[in-house]
Amino acid sequence: MPELPEVETIKRDLEKRLIGKKLLRIEIFQETFYKKYFKDDFLLKLKTLLSQKIKEIRRKGKYLLLLLENKVLVFHLGVTGALILGNPKGGNPLFNKKHLILTLEFDELSLFFIDIRKFGKVWILEKEKLEDHFFFLGKDALEISFKEFKDLLLSKNRLIKSFLLDQRIISGLGNIYTDEILFRSRINPLRKTKNLSEEEIKRIYQNMQEVLVKAIELRGSSVKNYINGKGERGAFQEEHLVYGKRGSPCPICGNPLQYKKIAQRGTTFCSRCQR
Ligand SMILES: [Zn+2]
Repeated sequence: MPELPEVETIKRDLEKRLIGKKLLRIEIFQETFYKKYFKDDFLLKLKTLLSQKIKEIRRKGKYLLLLLENKVLVFHLGVTGALILGNPKGGNPLFNKKHLILTLEFDELSLFFIDIRKFGKVWILEKEKLEDHFFFLGKDALEISFKEFKDLLLSKNRLIKSFLLDQRIISGLGNIYTDEILFRSRINPLRKTKNLSEEEIKRIYQNMQEVLVKAIELRGSSVKNYINGKGERGAFQEEHLVYGKRGSPCPICGNPLQYKKIAQRGTTFCSRCQR
């Protein structure tokens, strides 16, 4: 599932090529399947976007926002969603057409929204209602200060894994990056937030920043199907120490890595190194 580094990578890819471009045509595929998200007025709303220019592209947690002149097109990539820029003519060799949901056509450039498993979502907002809509979202994991992070953490009595995953508290992290951050911080995912020491909190915070920055630099983690805005795979999966490695030897102590459902998510960790 695309998390903060993947969505940020896509955002930067789109920013380079879409700002100032006028939306000329919209083509929608798989309308029936997507009716539940598109709702009845979605098609009508889509038409109101035509001839508007892309003013800005923003990321909020794991959401990607295309800000037009007075509307905002919001994407959530779900599990396998992707936004890829390409040539409108001649198809696109990067993906199978049956996974195409929506195409936005600009002058000599198209943006393809594809989704294999179809848990992704797209909707339209009025620009002035943008902040109201995202009020529930916690501070961005890349922007939160150490003090804010520490205060939030100590104000909750949650498992650290579930705390980091909760988008209402901190936004942007998912299963891959929480497992990597906790392993690098040597913190057991079952620890309660209230019982963490200042030094442990600092470790988690620093690793969170380092992992996210590095993952963006390497253009995300391509596990399963993630591809970025250029249709390429990321490289941070090569840096994964524990995610997806259950049973493999721990890179620090050599003991087999454990796997357990924590906060409803399959969690990989080393019970010896993570205390
Ligand atoms: Zn270990």
